[in-house]
Amino acid sequence: MDVFEVMEDLSCQQVVFCHDEATGLKAIIAFHDTTLGPALGGCRMRNYASEEEALMDVMRLARGMTLKSSISGLDFGGGKAVIWGDPHQKSEPMLRAMGRFVEGLNGRIITGTDMGTEPKDFAHMGKETRYLTSLPEEMGGRGDPSLMTATGVFHGIRACLEEVYGSDSMEGKTVSIQGVGKVGRHLARMLQEEGARIIACDPAEECLEMARKELNCQLAGPDEIYELEADVFSPNALGGVLNDSTVPGLKCKIVAGAANNQLAEARHGKMLWERGILYAPDFVINSGGLINVAAEYLQESEAKVDYKVRQIYTALKDIYKVARERDLPTSDVAEILAMERVDLIGKIRKIHVY
Ligand code: NAD
Repeated sequence: MDVFEVMEDLSCQQVVFCHDEATGLKAIIAFHDTTLGPALGGCRMRNYASEEEALMDVMRLARGMTLKSSISGLDFGGGKAVIWGDPHQKSEPMLRAMGRFVEGLNGRIITGTDMGTEPKDFAHMGKETRYLTSLPEEMGGRGDPSLMTATGVFHGIRACLEEVYGSDSMEGKTVSIQGVGKVGRHLARMLQEEGARIIACDPAEECLEMARKELNCQLAGPDEIYELEADVFSPNALGGVLNDSTVPGLKCKIVAGAANNQLAEARHGKMLWERGILYAPDFVINSGGLINVAAEYLQESEAKVDYKVRQIYTALKDIYKVARERDLPTSDVAEILAMERVDLIGKIRKIHVY
């Protein structure tokens, strides 16, 4: 793999490899664009099949963070960290070693929870670095951001319904939810409270049990979920689920969920647009978690977080308006608007103020 070639393809600014012999830590930190400010991006821990897979993941995720921060109106850049290893094998020394690498970057990246890491891990990292968020609530942090992510997706689905049906009411609407983990289960509950019917799927037995018993959802098989008759298909599990095999069979009017990198390739956004399926760009609709961790770092009030998460509704409506006017896929419009903001803020910084 030619690392510089891939960095160029993904417009990646910097990649930092971290290795600590004592704890076995192997980690990669990637920076995509830091025009808007220091990078803010989670630290994922995963047992990648190869070094290449870990590197591609962290660079793609870093790019997504540039877009997400920008479209959310935040002054943070795009970056991400991954630890290569089994999340069950985490230890205090390993997490502290990671914290020291983050501290050594002197504020260029601020990190927090992601897949495979949780608030208590950041209590360990926090002994070594100031540059983190997602601390447990009992340590003054805002804890797990999943509730805020789900709240953002909920408001995003309202915006989609309004766009497609002329009313944002959930009453009588059917939503098929792929993945009832941390985000999916909060989302299912919120939608149900507003009168939606939920069909859920998840390969994890305990999640399915919870969906059946606590949420009283109808259940579907993992492959069946793509072709169900539903108003909304909500991916809340994996990336790459909108691809050549799934998009042609979708029977929904809207795709709107929290999963990162839902489109296998950019052209699948065009396929959805051409099929008349409204796609809520993932980095817009799932930005509630980022808004939450940014608020923790900036010590913003609860009211401000609530306001910003509700603004996801407006951000999506603005994207849909431009998409209609220019006849462009919503995924393309969201990227254009996000990168336009990065570009313009970068330009105003040419004005010397002190
Ligand atoms: P999670 O791991 O708690 O839940 C994911 C669920 O998906 C699990 O229950 C898992 O069993 C299930 N799943 C795995 N493969 C599946 C499949 N083929 N079909 C159906 N279900 C499947 O993760 P989460 O925190 O709920 O996040 C869900 C998605 O949202 C991820 O893609 C994540 O990157 C993204 N996201 C999460 C947040 C957040 O605040 N947690 C923020 C932004 C984006």
